[in-house]
Amino acid sequence: MLFSRRAFMTSAAAMPVGIMAASGAIALIGQAMAQPAPDGPHKLAPLPYAANALEPHIDAQTMEIHHGRHHKAYVDNLNRALADQPALAALALTDLLKRLNEVPENIRIAVRNNGGGHANHTMFWTIMGANGGAPSGALLAAIDKNFGSVENMQQAFNDAGARQFGAGWVFVQGTPGSDKLEIVSRPNQDTPLMEGRPVLMGNDVWEHAYYLKYQNRRADYLKAWWNVVNWSAVAKRYEAIQAGKVEI
Ligand code: MN
Repeated sequence: MLFSRRAFMTSAAAMPVGIMAASGAIALIGQAMAQPAPDGPHKLAPLPYAANALEPHIDAQTMEIHHGRHHKAYVDNLNRALADQPALAALALTDLLKRLNEVPENIRIAVRNNGGGHANHTMFWTIMGANGGAPSGALLAAIDKNFGSVENMQQAFNDAGARQFGAGWVFVQGTPGSDKLEIVSRPNQDTPLMEGRPVLMGNDVWEHAYYLKYQNRRADYLKAWWNVVNWSAVAKRYEAIQAGKVEI
């Protein structure tokens, strides 16, 4: 700790309220920086392919920073938030996100942002890959039924991603036990999992996902991203949704 509690309380007694609050915040930030994050319960899985596997559409440096720093920070900060919450720490991430209203208020925003970030990025890495093929079979039939064609779905998805103001995600949301698919966008690290809805696929429209290569050209990134979608991974997710599951 930066300050002992007694020393802080003693010095705080003589301070104006604003300065006291700032000192307290600095002490808390100092603790978070100084202490390593707990090693669990949530873990950062390695990328399922090399960082340069998605080039030229997503560059290796973006992948390394996005996975190794941004995603790692969501996992570390989620574990920090849950450090004194054994009952919540024991929940599967899908259940934790569905039950945010039961999370104590003092950590609810941290769990929402970092738990959502962990879930979104875990999904994101696994639905991408080199030589991802094309949708087929039951997945293709569902896309045609809901959107008319793969191209129509991609256009609606890209439009929703471009319209999302500031940071956020665009998703194709599924319906457990049904072939109904919908395009939705969410701000920050929110996810349909917070409403108990499964995600078929999603794209990250935070600037950190594309800025090094595309700068402000989010629309170009959204268009290029379809080249790195791993359709067999998406088909497996569709099968799980059809089976009634809500998974990360
Ligand atoms: Mn991201």
